[in-house]
Amino acid sequence: MSIVAKRLQNMDSSGIRKVFDLAANLDHPIDLSIGQPHFDVFPEVKEAAIEAIEKGFNSYTVTQGIPELHEVVREYYRRRFDIEADHTLITSGVSGGLLLSFMALVDPGDEVIVSDPFFVMYPSLVEIMGGVVKYVDTYPDFRFRAERLEEAVTSKTKALVINSPANPTGAVIPPEDLAMIAEFADNHDLFLIADEIYEQFSYDSPPDTILRYSRPEKTLVLNGLSKAAGMTGWRVGYAIGPEEVLQAMTMLQQYTFVCAPSFAQRAGMVAMRRDMSLELADYRRKRDLMCGGLRERGFEMEKPQGAFYVFPEAPGGNGTRFVEEAIRNNLLIIPGIVFSTRDTHFRISLAAEDEMLLKGLEVLGRLREEVKG
Ligand code: PMP
Repeated sequence: MSIVAKRLQNMDSSGIRKVFDLAANLDHPIDLSIGQPHFDVFPEVKEAAIEAIEKGFNSYTVTQGIPELHEVVREYYRRRFDIEADHTLITSGVSGGLLLSFMALVDPGDEVIVSDPFFVMYPSLVEIMGGVVKYVDTYPDFRFRAERLEEAVTSKTKALVINSPANPTGAVIPPEDLAMIAEFADNHDLFLIADEIYEQFSYDSPPDTILRYSRPEKTLVLNGLSKAAGMTGWRVGYAIGPEEVLQAMTMLQQYTFVCAPSFAQRAGMVAMRRDMSLELADYRRKRDLMCGGLRERGFEMEKPQGAFYVFPEAPGGNGTRFVEEAIRNNLLIIPGIVFSTRDTHFRISLAAEDEMLLKGLEVLGRLREEVKG
């Protein structure tokens, strides 16, 4: 008998960690596996953090986060989307927000609809809460289809999780699909959990949010500064949603995270006001560079419109086998099975220097020739 709680017994450690273990012996790998921007925290954001620390802003903050940061979040949604974010909570990264929201919303036996492919946390969190994951297949173009959503919904369905722009596919849900999803949720009285952490990384269309389409009393949006400001280690995120749900999450935060890191909340205020069009243009260029290079080498893929990943089909059809071969050739990428019930694709991160991307392309091209030959 294991001493570990039953709720963890069917759980596996994140597949990404397994790839990292496989890669542990590589010397200077071509690393296209990373899910964080390659740029460092912006200088003015560092200065704000240092100033906060030096001025003694080092204690717990109020559970829900400092009022000044709430105000900046509200200002951001007003400026960007003309939306009044009436209720907000500062979380310990979007991961913290996801944990609290699933704890607050999912009872044992509740069904939660998740796209396939998905970001790794969603199915695991649903299962930790004793809920049941209902996958909706979005291959080959990674779009939700109304018929498939209708097939997945039952009387036990409580919530639908969406993630746009998406990890691992880079897909951006177009406005007409956001409207369709909002209507579907409304018709079936489902709660929408929208992970919009890559909201700033939208290359072909203006940034968008499900809040422009859905009923605010049935929608929780999670966003944060890990990706937009390269602050992955500083753990600042936020949630926008109905008061009742945010109050439950705040109570849970008291018993878990306590608060987001104090100095990072102060620095987050500066980060959220910063214009990042230069970074966006740079990542768009990287996307084009990588997609062009992959197409020239015969790879099949949907062009990502956001986030910083490409999710091509694996030559030979098996993602794990292709990734093992890539790792033997010093290239770190992630097999699609980590993010999917299918093992047919692989994920490349664009968040790297161009030199690294070009080296990666060279190895990928070679491996594809070998599989073909
Ligand atoms: N959601 C998605 C889709 C992500 O890709 C990530 C980071 N990989 C997270 C949430 C977690 O981000 P944070 O650092 O804010 O916890």
